[in-house]
Amino acid sequence: MQLTHEHEELARNLTRFIDEEINPHVDEWEAAEIFPAHEVFGKLGRLGYLGLTKPEEWGGAGLDYSYSVVMAETLGHVRCGGVPMAIGVQTDMATPALARFGSDELRRQFLAPAITGDMVACVGVSEPGAGSDVAAIRTTARRDGGDYVINGAKMWITSSLQADWMCLLANTSDDPAHRNKSLIVVPMDTPGIVKAKKIRKIGMFSSDTGLIHFDDVRVPQRYRIGEEGKGFTYQMMQFQEERLWAAANAIRALGECIDMTIDYTRDRQAFGHSILDNQYVHFRLAELKTEVEALRGLTYLATGHYVAGRDVTEWASMAKLKAGRLMREVPDACLQYWGGMGYTWENPVSRMFRDGRLASIGGGADEVMLGIICKYMRTLAAPR
Ligand SMILES: Cc1cc2nc3c(=O)[nH]c(=O)nc-3n(C[C@H](O)[C@H](O)[C@H](O)COP(=O)(O)OP(=O)(O)OC[C@H]3O[C@@H](n4cnc5c(N)ncnc54)[C@H](O)[C@@H]3O)c2cc1C
Repeated sequence: MQLTHEHEELARNLTRFIDEEINPHVDEWEAAEIFPAHEVFGKLGRLGYLGLTKPEEWGGAGLDYSYSVVMAETLGHVRCGGVPMAIGVQTDMATPALARFGSDELRRQFLAPAITGDMVACVGVSEPGAGSDVAAIRTTARRDGGDYVINGAKMWITSSLQADWMCLLANTSDDPAHRNKSLIVVPMDTPGIVKAKKIRKIGMFSSDTGLIHFDDVRVPQRYRIGEEGKGFTYQMMQFQEERLWAAANAIRALGECIDMTIDYTRDRQAFGHSILDNQYVHFRLAELKTEVEALRGLTYLATGHYVAGRDVTEWASMAKLKAGRLMREVPDACLQYWGGMGYTWENPVSRMFRDGRLASIGGGADEVMLGIICKYMRTLAAPR
């Protein structure tokens, strides 16, 4: 992936937007444990940021995926993880399958307003009993007349307390697990949907995370995305973009974590010189910077292949794994050099230490990424 003038302009303009419209409010949203998604998405939508890679027909810009990657990377400039995550859910996790396989009616009704920012979307895959093992989900959508009747529960769903619709993965038949699932658009105000709980977390405070119950929830069958029984396949495709997005989002966040630590340790004195003047400290920061640039290389390489139309399951999994590892290693190492200040609640590095921990778990845990990579290396043991 080669960065062009257009990519750089996108990053510059979005950085300005973040500085003016997002970062001044982050502390308030973190304290409230929710951010006003409709208000923020409305502003992003009006500037065209929510549809960079979506078809022009539905209000998108029709650009290739490298632009999503640059946007994800730039969102690393936001001073928390929760807001970028919700934006990523809207642009690259809940909507790719709808854009690709949804009927025109569905795209008019749900995709177009997600691109303008008038509607907030969430993606419902994980359940109380199944996260890593997506094939094992239990939520069902049974045909009844022209409708589906949905029963089950979805857990950990980002933005679900304020979302207008969910891209839901449910079992629509008793066929084998990889062929019995469908993706269905479910409006969140449908009777029978219960927002059972706002889940309290150790980080990502400004993002609302819900447990959602479905009790005989009735939606028309025409709300299904694409073909019945193809939901698992569509979701796996959707995961490629989610994983590239997650890897890209880490790059700038990690770089800024290192930069903030350089600034702090340059000023802070101990034993007659700055903390940064210790070779142990500046060598460690140089090592971490090298790791972040390696992540950039891997992510851009994967993106280049993806834009060229290749299957990047292996590359995207490697990039997501590396990002997860570094989101733990870099803030942890940096926090150390802030001393007691690093251990305080409002410190930007301690916030990243908490928020970043999710990167090794959400959207496929590190071990799931390792399993995928091993599959491509043909070293994975036969399923038990
Ligand atoms: C803040 C937050 C936001 C989220 N947002 C969403 C969302 O919007 N939509 C959505 O659908 N989901 C969402 N998730 C769910 C997330 O994707 C899952 O938590 C994740 O996939 C892991 O599933 P699990 O929690 O059920 O862990 P489990 O599947 O119970 O796994 C627990 C641990 O076991 C280990 N493990 C699992 N499989 C293997 C293996 N094969 N080999 C070795 N070890 C293994 C891993 O270390 C893993 O972390 C979110 C989660 C969080 C915490």
